Amino acid sequence: MRPFEFVAPETAEKAVAILAENSPNAKPLAGGTDMVVDLKHTNAVPKVVVDLNKIEEFRGIEMTDRGLRIGSLVTHTEIMEHPLVAEHAPAMIDAARTIGAVQTRNLGTLGGNLVTCVPSLDSGPVLVALDAEVTVVGNDGRRQMPLTEFFVGPRKTALNPDELLADIIVPTAMLGRATHFLKFGLRKGQALALVNGASSLRLDGGKVADARIALGAVAPVVIRAGKAEDLVNGTDADEAVLAEAGDLAAGECKPIDDFRASADYRRDLVRVLTKRTLETAYAIAKDKG
Ligand SMILES: Cc1cc2nc3c(=O)[nH]c(=O)nc-3n(C[C@H](O)[C@H](O)[C@H](O)COP(=O)(O)OP(=O)(O)OC[C@H]3O[C@@H](n4cnc5c(N)ncnc54)[C@H](O)[C@@H]3O)c2cc1C
Repeated sequence: MRPFEFVAPETAEKAVAILAENSPNAKPLAGGTDMVVDLKHTNAVPKVVVDLNKIEEFRGIEMTDRGLRIGSLVTHTEIMEHPLVAEHAPAMIDAARTIGAVQTRNLGTLGGNLVTCVPSLDSGPVLVALDAEVTVVGNDGRRQMPLTEFFVGPRKTALNPDELLADIIVPTAMLGRATHFLKFGLRKGQALALVNGASSLRLDGGKVADARIALGAVAPVVIRAGKAEDLVNGTDADEAVLAEAGDLAAGECKPIDDFRASADYRRDLVRVLTKRTLETAYAIAKDKG
């Protein structure tokens, strides 16, 4: 590993000032599950590593006026164990459970996962299906944006080099919404997603309303399958509708061929995943009455 300077500021304001002063040769560090691998195995070692772990305001899960706020430093294990997440956004727990192994989930943070912005990131689809927003802090203050705008491209977010992700908010209107997440990989544990995704919906007079279908690993960033959403809205989500929604979603994604799977196989997985996530989200919504 090449040498670097290590700083651990206690406030977001100090951290962004250090990033600005040393930009583009400074990089934030959260849990380090991705970053330490980069520091060890690539030449892209920054001059300054800015450890975020002393920034208290980036921690914690709490209910606010805007919705469920999750600090960017919250780990996947904390998400899995938190009663507010279990009550208001349980599909986040299903997604967190699929990330790496225990050690990765204990160290890896939600913020770090979103900032890596790899197409297969497992926390993305549920948050997109729940219309999550993020808060970004920089030297000019704070700005909020939908998570869909934060994801710009593979490994590229809307963050400037001197900005940090502060928190993630699941808006009040989406709390408790029927949501289901699924991930398909080459094996059950410690596998990157070939395809992952989540569907969320509510019922209006017993019919599907406001469906959101978010798909990961089949496009440069997490996408919504808008045509499939339009099709299921206003229906009883019967077998024929769900099968057609799966076909439409498969047509809306742009998977790649690689050594893990062909694009055609990924499209087939999207068909199955869309159908199953909608089916289960509909059943959850019916159960809630
Ligand atoms: C063995 C292994 C298995 C894995 N399995 C999975 C998996 O199944 N699914 C999955 O989605 N991921 C997986 N990952 C990837 C990784 O663990 C997660 O993405 C994790 O959540 C990253 O968080 P971190 O806190 O460790 O990030 P770090 O490694 O600390 O940082 C990652 C990147 O984000 C930046 N960053 C971190 N926090 C902030 C912030 N608040 N503001 C601005 N920039 C920030 C860093 O500068 C760096 O570029 C795996 C990794 C390993 C090593």
